[in-house]
Amino acid sequence: MNYEAVIGLEVHVQLNTKTKTFCSCSTEFGDRPNTHTCPVCLGLPGALPVLNREALVKGILAGLALNCEVAEYSVFARKNYFYPDLPKAYQISQYEFPLNKNGYVIIKDDNGRDKKIGITRAHLEEDAGKLIHDEDPKGPSYIDLNRCGTPLLEIVSEPDIRTPGEAYRYLIAIKEIMQYIGVSECNMEKGELRVDVNISVRKMGSRDFGVKHEIKNMNSFANVKRALEYEIKRQIKVLRAGGKLKQETRLFDQSKNATVPMRTKEEAHDYRYFPDPDLVPVVLKKEEIEEIRAKLPELPEEKRKRFVQQYGLTEYDSENLCSSKKLADYFEEAVAGYKNPKKIANWILSEMMKVIKEKQIPIEDFKVKPVMLRELFEIIDSGEITGKIAKEVFAEMADTGKKAGEIIKARGLKQVADEDVLEKVIDEVISENPKVVEEIRGGKKKAFGYLVGQVMKKTKGQANPGIVNQILSKKLELQ
Ligand SMILES: [Zn+2]
Repeated sequence: MNYEAVIGLEVHVQLNTKTKTFCSCSTEFGDRPNTHTCPVCLGLPGALPVLNREALVKGILAGLALNCEVAEYSVFARKNYFYPDLPKAYQISQYEFPLNKNGYVIIKDDNGRDKKIGITRAHLEEDAGKLIHDEDPKGPSYIDLNRCGTPLLEIVSEPDIRTPGEAYRYLIAIKEIMQYIGVSECNMEKGELRVDVNISVRKMGSRDFGVKHEIKNMNSFANVKRALEYEIKRQIKVLRAGGKLKQETRLFDQSKNATVPMRTKEEAHDYRYFPDPDLVPVVLKKEEIEEIRAKLPELPEEKRKRFVQQYGLTEYDSENLCSSKKLADYFEEAVAGYKNPKKIANWILSEMMKVIKEKQIPIEDFKVKPVMLRELFEIIDSGEITGKIAKEVFAEMADTGKKAGEIIKARGLKQVADEDVLEKVIDEVISENPKVVEEIRGGKKKAFGYLVGQVMKKTKGQANPGIVNQILSKKLELQ
């Protein structure tokens, strides 16, 4: 009997507002602990929350980008639980009336076909603070409430995901969309995107759901994939052996590459949700929602399609360029008015990405600006330098931020196209390689490339290859 996995994901995305969800404290990351707090986010008696308009607008923008219906009426609710990093003993979230619902994203399934993954809801809530535990287990724990009250968007998917690969691509899609619309940087190291997984397995063809397991606190997409791979195998093994699964929450242990039990259902929370009496319901007019929709930029999926059509790129290249909005923007700026965008795309994806990876810098800090890359290509096209020299020039541009023209001039890299000069070098090469010459005349065409290589070597890569080919063919009477 074959089994299949049924997977749903809950993604928490931190919205990049300047101030917190219900107070005017700064959301700046990494400042001294407990310096961004006030009576509201400390949960002091009598303090009243006021909704941050920017958080609401970004929440709506994200909902629209996820193809959701934006509710004209939504309500903030209290989710009650006690934990030291939550001074109010409740989190303000949304329950019965979320801001966004019934959306979807398109991903590729494991066979490369488009697949729609439903979004049940995407609601606004506030984050908790952070506990910092001493390395000594007997030592104290510290509380930093700077993050407490920071806006989050919780995106809950339908259980439409079937494989770890689909889960991985869904997460990439969510991250790309959030970055494209500018509501979050989704930096996982800063905890700006966090993932909880719901997973069960069932017999292939069955419509019922199996026993649900939750895996919490995953800090990378790769770990989500690994945890799912492990958990699917584990659950199927239990069922095949005739065992029973019990509903539980598990944690992924990276060192063991396995999931381990955290708590069973009996210990699960009852959050006693109720509408927060301190906050009025959010009532939106259709026109207000449409106004925000008008601000939606081109989304990754649309951009990928346009790049293929407009610039004649392959789907693969287009996908790689659009994987980051900054990279896509760089490409478009570089090819503006240039006749062969495919050539620049190839260069960006090979040469440029290699250098950026080596330097470990974000693209905005890369010293070769898009216009400078285009200038380099115009110089290559003019025949002034060869592709080989261009790589050298590019490396120096990336190190120094100098323009291609400057470097070529300073280092005397201009291509040698002077036929008299080249003829001399070619004569040398011919007289130094009588055997090869004989082979070529005898019909071994492959050896021709060797002689061209020798000419390039003598000219330090600066000979114009087209002219070298011409002269060499003539001299060997191949024409
Ligand atoms: Zn505050």
